[in-house]
Order: sequence, then C-alpha cells, then structure tokens
Amino acid sequence: MEGRTDELFAQARRAKGFMPDDEGNALYRAARRAGTEAGGDGTFVEVGAWCGKSTVYLGAAAETTGAALFSIDHHHGSEENQPGWEHHDDEVVDPATGRIDTLPFWRRTIDDAGLGGCVVGVVGISSVIALHWRTPIDFCFIDGGHGEEPAWADFRGWAPHVAVGRWLAIHDVFPDPADGGRPPYDLWCAALASGEFVEDGECGSLRVLRRAGPPTGAR
Ligand code: SAH
Ligand code: MG
Repeated sequence: MEGRTDELFAQARRAKGFMPDDEGNALYRAARRAGTEAGGDGTFVEVGAWCGKSTVYLGAAAETTGAALFSIDHHHGSEENQPGWEHHDDEVVDPATGRIDTLPFWRRTIDDAGLGGCVVGVVGISSVIALHWRTPIDFCFIDGGHGEEPAWADFRGWAPHVAVGRWLAIHDVFPDPADGGRPPYDLWCAALASGEFVEDGECGSLRVLRRAGPPTGAR
C-alpha cells in the first residue's frame, strides 16, 4: 500500500499544476483522515482541477479509504491562466479553438495514475454544480478561480455542503498581500468569523477547516 501511495505521489509531482509537494502531502493526509472518518463511502469534492495535480493527491486519499472524489472544473482556465497573465501555459491551449482546454491533460493524469475507479470528473461551472448538489461532503477542497467573484461563489456554493464535523480546505491563503491575491484569504477569514468552522491544520498556503456547527444560511 505504501508503494502505491509513493507511486501516486510521484505521478502528482510529474503532473502540470500549482500544488507544491509538501502542500500536496498535507492535502492527502487531511483528506485521508476525512475518508477514514467517513468509514468507506466518503464523498470528496475538488473545485479547481486544472491538469489533475491536486486531483491525484486527493484521489490517493479516496482510493485508500474507499471514498469517491468529484473533481470539478470547466477546464477553460481561470482569469489568471489566460494568455498574458501570470499563470499561463501555451501548451494547454487547444489550437483548434485558441481556448485553454485542460480536460485532455486532466484525463491523461488520472488514467496514468490509474485512479479512474474512484475519481469522477465533473465538467462545468462550479457554482452551477453547487446549486444542484445534494450530497453532504466529507472533504471539500476549494482551489478554483481566485478572482473576487469566482472565489466567493465557490465559498457560498460549497461550504454549506460540508457536513458537520467534516472538512473544508482552501488553497492559496496568503495572510501577507505581498505573497498573493486576497480572495482565498478573505474566504478563510469569513469561514472562521462565521463561527461555523474551526482551524484544523495548515501547510504553506493550504488551510484546513473543520465544520463545528450547521450552516446558518446567513452569508
Ligand atoms: N488544483 C489545481 C490548480 C487549479 S487552477 C492544481 O493542483 O494544479 C484553478 C482551476 O479552476 C482552473 O483549472 C480553472 O479552469 C478552474 N476554474 C476557475 N473558475 C471556475 C469556475 N467558475 N467553475 C469551474 N472551474 C473553474
Ligand atoms: Mg491553488
């Protein structure tokens, strides 16, 4: 089993993306704990998959605990991934359309990792999916668009689905504005200020929160 985890970590490190190794390991450990507590049929949601790097860390935790991971992305990239922006990569532009399309890269990553048995790709706008989602979530990882609008839409859409006693993780939380954009940090502050979540671990810009009480609906 350890061999399998090592193999998956190596796959994750090879994949294109935005998840430092130590934060990926921390993400895996946090999700594995959630999967274990869920007892064999846990539900994980990832918002923002890009080419599947974080998906493999979360998928490794899903596989070993019997959970399923729903990995959500429209696969056309965030604002910050578009040509001329900081996190652009020409290789993921579909020459036929001139548009970013990371879905073929994501699929390749998941197939190479052999995670098709527990990872489900959900292709679309995350707030639309959140509105129709009905299953309580054991581990929710928010790493989608980092602009004001998409980040808050993800928080408002997904945080209420996290079951009491379960976990919400947010990526790219930078308390110092010199290190990165505000919205993910603001979400993290709002989660704590709501009194619904308590801090439960961090690594780099990854913050893990545990739901202490039911959603109040006052957002
Ligand atoms: N977790 C990834 C990085 C995600 S980058 C990793 O480990 O590398 C952010 C992703 O969010 C992009 O792929 C982008 O397409 C997606 N995204 C941004 N806004 C979105 C939205 N409103 N709905 C669905 N996906 C979105
Ligand atoms: Mg990120």
